[in-house]
Amino acid sequence: MMNFELTEEQQSVKKVVRKFVDKEIIPYIQEWDRQGQFQPHILKRLAELQLMGVCIPEEYGGVGMDYNTLAIVCEELERGDTAYRTAVSVHTGLNSMTLLQWGTEEQKQKYLVPQAKGIKIGAFGLTEPNAGSDVAAMKSTAKRVGDHYILNGSKTWISLCDYADHFLIFAKTDHDAGSRGITAFIVERTFEGVESKAIKGKLGIRAGNTGEIFLTDVKVPVENRLGEEGEGFKISMSALDSGRFTVAAGAVGLIEASLEASLKYCHERSTFGKEIGKHQLVQQMIAKMTANLEISDCWYLKRAP
Ligand SMILES: Cc1cc2nc3c(=O)[nH]c(=O)nc-3n(C[C@H](O)[C@H](O)[C@H](O)COP(=O)(O)OP(=O)(O)OC[C@H]3O[C@@H](n4cnc5c(N)ncnc54)[C@H](O)[C@@H]3O)c2cc1C
Repeated sequence: MMNFELTEEQQSVKKVVRKFVDKEIIPYIQEWDRQGQFQPHILKRLAELQLMGVCIPEEYGGVGMDYNTLAIVCEELERGDTAYRTAVSVHTGLNSMTLLQWGTEEQKQKYLVPQAKGIKIGAFGLTEPNAGSDVAAMKSTAKRVGDHYILNGSKTWISLCDYADHFLIFAKTDHDAGSRGITAFIVERTFEGVESKAIKGKLGIRAGNTGEIFLTDVKVPVENRLGEEGEGFKISMSALDSGRFTVAAGAVGLIEASLEASLKYCHERSTFGKEIGKHQLVQQMIAKMTANLEISDCWYLKRAP
């Protein structure tokens, strides 16, 4: 039989994140959301708490725990707000785990180690204005010139676009090869020709930083190519596997927050002479939410990549 109990270590991580979220995110999040303002100091705090590389091996600067622990971090963060869960999903799930899987030893030492420690922030640049689900429709290009590539194009909906130090950027090295013509690159923010611009006035994840990346004749050394030419699609899909797992875990935290808020309101609001939580139909809804939360919790713990 599957054991869904958390280990002692996982329980202590859960406690640390919960305490941090209760104290440093929940009391402020409504205001940050209203202002549409990302708070970079939260990234620093996540690094101090060693939550930016929880599932990255110790030899690469991480804590060396398992993927379920990353899921627990995401669940607890999203209990506070989606914005900071998204930050960890992108930094750890989409970027760092991809470097771990596909990077050379030199790339891991140079980029993964500082990311796992949270000293540097990683982001993921796949989506373009006309290429979302249909990744192979991307238009960004990478042209090999001697010992470097020249990248041109633009990306959109990129989480942490204004705060990331390193981007995993996907671009076409062969325009006619469809999904097999895509290559992945590690691009530093400081490379000439890289610019970012946040999207303002979003309807959701308002406290998150999401925006565009513009690449104009960006010179990227060959040693910053991740994998081989043409392997970018495969790399991006493996990254999305890790990323989506953290999104699912975060959703469980959101369900938990909704249940907590509903329970609180059940006691606060009265109709027909009693608290609404005393009405049978409301109790049924709460019971359904509780059952669904438990099912969702078990579901993601079974599905760690
Ligand atoms: C808050 C936020 C943060 C994000 N962060 C990042 C990031 O960090 N990095 C990054 O690269 N991207 C990021 N994205 C982009 C995200 O991954 C894309 O939005 C996603 O890939 C979908 O692409 P799209 O929005 O262009 O929708 P489209 O691909 O245009 O899809 C539109 C609709 O059509 C449906 N659809 C599409 N194709 C099919 C099909 N074959 N069959 C049936 N239905 C279909 C879709 O499900 C959707 O409902 C982010 C998006 C958001 C909103």
